[in-house]
Amino acid sequence: MLRCRMPDARRRNCMCCGKSSEVVGPISWSGNCLDCAKALLEENVVGISTQTGYAYKRFVRGIAAWAADAIPEPLDTPPPASHSQR
Ligand SMILES: [Zn+2]
Repeated sequence: MLRCRMPDARRRNCMCCGKSSEVVGPISWSGNCLDCAKALLEENVVGISTQTGYAYKRFVRGIAAWAADAIPEPLDTPPPASHSQR
């Protein structure tokens, strides 16, 4: 948990905007400066709430993958004869 609160001292440039840490301040472990992190968060929240953009597509893919795992495998054997007579 502490790792998430501390900046990554090894990073020198933001992965998103490419600006130096001397200009934009500490770079997070995700590789983003504070301004880019805020912009990405807003983009994700707005995208999911308005059902648009990459964040929403990733969200829907995650739901679909979860649902695919939740559906049981088809049975290889037919049901017993007592079930088909009803
Ligand atoms: Zn940035």
